[in-house]
Amino acid sequence: MPKLRLHNTLSQRLEVFEPQRPPVVGFYTCGPTVYNYAHLGNLRAYVFADFLKRTLLYNGYEVKHIMNITDVGHLTDDADAGEDKMEVGAEREGKSAWEIADFYIKTFKGDLRALNIIPPTKYCRATEYIKEQIELAQILEEKGYLYRISDGLYFDTSLVPHYNKLSHLPLEKLKEGARIEKNPEKRHPTDFAVWKFSPLGQKRQMEWDSPWGKGFPGWHLECATMSLKLLAGHLDIHTGGVDHINVHHTNEIAQAEAATGQTFFHYWLHNAFLNIAGGKKMAKSGANFLTLQAAVIDKGWLPLAYRYACLEVHYRKPMEYSQAGLAAADKALRWLYREIATLGQVVGQVSPLFKEKFLEAINDDLNSPRALAVLFKVLNSQLSNKDKLATIKDFDEVLGLDLSGGSQHYLEMLTNIPPEVQALFNKRQTARENHNFQLADELRRQLASAGYGVEDEPGGSRLVPLF
Ligand code: AMP
Ligand code: ZN
Repeated sequence: MPKLRLHNTLSQRLEVFEPQRPPVVGFYTCGPTVYNYAHLGNLRAYVFADFLKRTLLYNGYEVKHIMNITDVGHLTDDADAGEDKMEVGAEREGKSAWEIADFYIKTFKGDLRALNIIPPTKYCRATEYIKEQIELAQILEEKGYLYRISDGLYFDTSLVPHYNKLSHLPLEKLKEGARIEKNPEKRHPTDFAVWKFSPLGQKRQMEWDSPWGKGFPGWHLECATMSLKLLAGHLDIHTGGVDHINVHHTNEIAQAEAATGQTFFHYWLHNAFLNIAGGKKMAKSGANFLTLQAAVIDKGWLPLAYRYACLEVHYRKPMEYSQAGLAAADKALRWLYREIATLGQVVGQVSPLFKEKFLEAINDDLNSPRALAVLFKVLNSQLSNKDKLATIKDFDEVLGLDLSGGSQHYLEMLTNIPPEVQALFNKRQTARENHNFQLADELRRQLASAGYGVEDEPGGSRLVPLF
């Protein structure tokens, strides 16, 4: 069986994956900051994490997957400046920070469901781990890593020997990114807040008592704390988008390793961006903010078409958003459902030859485009229909495209035509016989909105599910 190899940002190389305590794999995914809807770019990060998780499961591992929910402390500038995104969102919507957190957690989970993403073993909210975050900060303080300035307690990054081990950037570059002019009291530009004080005379919606004063935890403290607590002994894989490498993940590592004196996660995997045309990253602010609902579902495309579109691009390659690309993905997925529907219902044996090819693809740093190509090869192969079906079902454990469910749905639409659809169709037949083509066209439109198309052939017309 081909070994699973993953690209580790720490070594910048492909490495054979070895968990610390097989068969369990501990896996942490930086989750959403819940002050707004997730956009398609964010969702790319979760489709990637899901593909990784399914690949681990397919390889026989037990996966303990933790995903945090950032409901406090993520400031509008990742490097500790600006306002808390949660409070900004609350103001925008005239609700409390707690209310918007609940609302966007719900919409986020709905998006994951629509994309057939397996929920994590556990979601953890930053606000539910305040005590543990304070305890970790206390350890760091005792060890001499923290200093106090007027707006908070900061981590002295100069005390960490290999601060740039994840980013591989010269310190000068990291400093440029950190923009010291925003806080001249910091000792070094890369230093970051572990605990921020509530502004004097001002009551924040989210604030807690701490040994250093009322305030709230820094965003990087949250992921370090929850990983250490919930994945103790299984700090195998940590994922997120590439934008997290230089600041967020670098600072998680700095804190966790300073506190424990041990290696934090062993494998760091990062997905490239979803960009809009011209190479600009899709972001939560700006006109290029597209949700799954608006950009896919409202267009009449299957939500899983977006998952399919993500899988067509390797996770480390930038992906470009386009309506045409999504329309093509929708078409391809519906075609797959139709093709699979023709294979019948009897499930045979998984083809060992194709399974090997599929494993080679996914175990080669999650090569999803190649895995899809193997799927198409199976469909075009000489295998019997029942063996094709077995093999495809097996692959779908990893692809997550609901290939059985989708083709079943198509078959049901084909065989159980609703009486009102049949009536519209009959009316259209009569209109055509009477040469009333205007009415026939109008009825075709009505049929389309009911999910059916009409194929007119020399021998007569027939209804087909619009798939
Ligand atoms: P956030 O909700 O902003 O904390 O981001 C959630 C996840 O989405 C993180 O892993 C980010 O790195 C990732 N992300 C943000 N923007 C994009 C994008 N345009 N393309 C891919 N991933 C992104
Ligand atoms: Zn994180």
